[in-house]
Amino acid sequence: MKLLISNGHLVDPAAPENTGMNLLVENGRVSAWIRPGDAQPEVDETFDASGLLVAPGFIDMHVHLREPGQEHKETISTGCAAAVAGGFTSVCPMPNTSPVNDNAAITRYMIEQGERASLANVFPIGAITKSSDGSELAEMGEMKAAGAVAVSDDGRPVPNAGIMRRAMQYAKDFELPVIDHCEDRSLSAGGVMHEGRISLLLGLKGMPALAEEIDIVRDLLIAKETGAHIHIAHVSTKGAIEAVRRAKNEGISVTCEVAPHHFTLTDRSVEGYDTNTKMAPPLRSEQHLEAVIEAIKDRTIDAIASDHAPHHADEKALEYDKAPFGIIGLETSIGLAMTELLYKGIISLEQLVELYSANPAKILRLGGRGTLKAGSVADITILDPDCQWTYINSESRSKSRNSPFDGREFRGAAVATIVGGRFVFKR
Ligand SMILES: [Zn+2]
Repeated sequence: MKLLISNGHLVDPAAPENTGMNLLVENGRVSAWIRPGDAQPEVDETFDASGLLVAPGFIDMHVHLREPGQEHKETISTGCAAAVAGGFTSVCPMPNTSPVNDNAAITRYMIEQGERASLANVFPIGAITKSSDGSELAEMGEMKAAGAVAVSDDGRPVPNAGIMRRAMQYAKDFELPVIDHCEDRSLSAGGVMHEGRISLLLGLKGMPALAEEIDIVRDLLIAKETGAHIHIAHVSTKGAIEAVRRAKNEGISVTCEVAPHHFTLTDRSVEGYDTNTKMAPPLRSEQHLEAVIEAIKDRTIDAIASDHAPHHADEKALEYDKAPFGIIGLETSIGLAMTELLYKGIISLEQLVELYSANPAKILRLGGRGTLKAGSVADITILDPDCQWTYINSESRSKSRNSPFDGREFRGAAVATIVGGRFVFKR
């Protein structure tokens, strides 16, 4: 099977000189870059990408696919359908499934369900501790051998510094990044939104920025001491970003990601008590959002990850205090980034591809991905930079509908998604 992607504008930070090339895909790999004026090979299929951007496949390194255990919210199959429609060729499901992905059998099960769905690649993230209860380390080596690409107790941050230190020592030996949801529960417990002026006005219990920042500082110190790679999940506060920036300058092996809602919404959105504005970390105030945007611009932030967290409508219909944390985000991520970052001049096209592909591939050591160089895996995201579209929640491929972006208008969309040389989505 030979595919030629012609006339597109290639965006690959690893090969910036090759923007005008046609791309030849053979047997699931990028086999050559061909100058449009040169003789073109005989192929089975040609995709005319005139006016479109051709990028290495986008990787969402932080999603919740709810399988096994909560298939009424999402399955690996429906989550992957949402992923490829959003332009993602790979997704990394967090281990807070039921049971928790803390062993090789569940890691393998998740990968197999991904293969059965045959849409996006599924690269699971294993738990740091058994059942993510923070007490006993999970079998990292076995999970890695089964295909896990990182470890995290996302949603249930490891409270004990001693356990976290041992976890990082092991993770370093196994060459697994530790993805860290930073939240000190002694400061955030009972909180349902950002602690500040708005939480006071609304009479809702707040989660202070300090809860995130104190945990980041602790774990950066542990990372420094152990030499493990720490990847901070969904940074959302000014102080958290400053801590990461300082740590990077100091040479600590740290990267971080941001979720699209943290560069587009503030705690003002909570004013209507819409439970689709409830997530952890919470939507912060304007000064934190400004710090997030500055950190995207100056590359302190390495990746954009949706933190796609499906919940059933009945649960999100509860009052604000009782509703679960989290929103879906696989289908709105790129629209938000293109509209709010690219077209507002905050990032370049190359940066967009770094944030969505090159950097996640590097952090997770997904060799052969994150670039379109000859020999790489033919995971390709094709974007229409001028597509004007409106996100309609009821049309989502996800099983859940908990998005605050219903009816939002975007400029820029994924129009075709190719995984291993095969089209898995066309708009
Ligand atoms: Zn989290």
